Amino acid sequence: MTSALAQTSKRPHDIPTALRDIRAAIAAAAIDAGRDPAAVTLVAVSKFHPAEAVKTAIAAGQTIFGENRVQEAAAKFGPLRGSAPSFDLHLIGALQTNKARDAVRVADVIETLDRPRLADALAQAAEQEGRMPGLLVQVNVGDEPQKGGISTAEADGFIEAMQRRFGQQVLGLMCIPPAEGDPTPHFLWLRACAARHGLHQLSMGMSGDFAPAIACGATHVRIGTAIFGHRPAGPSGAPSQSL
Ligand SMILES: *Cc1c(COP(=O)(O)O)cnc(C)c1O
Repeated sequence: MTSALAQTSKRPHDIPTALRDIRAAIAAAAIDAGRDPAAVTLVAVSKFHPAEAVKTAIAAGQTIFGENRVQEAAAKFGPLRGSAPSFDLHLIGALQTNKARDAVRVADVIETLDRPRLADALAQAAEQEGRMPGLLVQVNVGDEPQKGGISTAEADGFIEAMQRRFGQQVLGLMCIPPAEGDPTPHFLWLRACAARHGLHQLSMGMSGDFAPAIACGATHVRIGTAIFGHRPAGPSGAPSQSL
């Protein structure tokens, strides 16, 4: 699987082919894990790639996209609403409270609900906008100081509070495990945590670790590089360093 992805990235970049390859690799990982491939949803992470790349992916049948930054997401996807086949936009980057209203306006799902002040800002924004996206609670599974997400110690209490406050809009959990080391214990931790709260969506796994994430029950994998190629250089291209 890793070799198939490596080959993909060596060819001149062809988004439809990369999408086909990644969908096949996701299905293979699901079957290896004894799971239904249809139970794993591909979120195509298009951050830093132009609207043209998104249009190409939409034409190739991709319907769910992820972006890190609210402003970039609004600029890129706003004009496509109505003119393209319908798609869902997930916000997957750290979200500042002062961007909550724009986030509520542009997103179908916000995957990075991770602190009480953001919950307050989103609740107020939802009231002003008359809509509330689906929400995932991001858990900082490695308890890394530089990363977003509620700490593992506070996760259960925070998730319960969010379910009391937002009800069925809380769809599940999201994590970005530490870059170093085996991600599997973190993925298993997140799955067990979701089960404790009756949550069904698990957003975990990226280009480098989607197979173990799927083996651990991921329902959503967030994949950028393997679809769109390498992002333009810069520290903000890294996961969780988004705003
Ligand atoms: C950029 C990003 C991804 C995609 O990472 P790739 O390694 O390019 O697949 C996934 N999740 C989050 C939160 C990200 O910021």
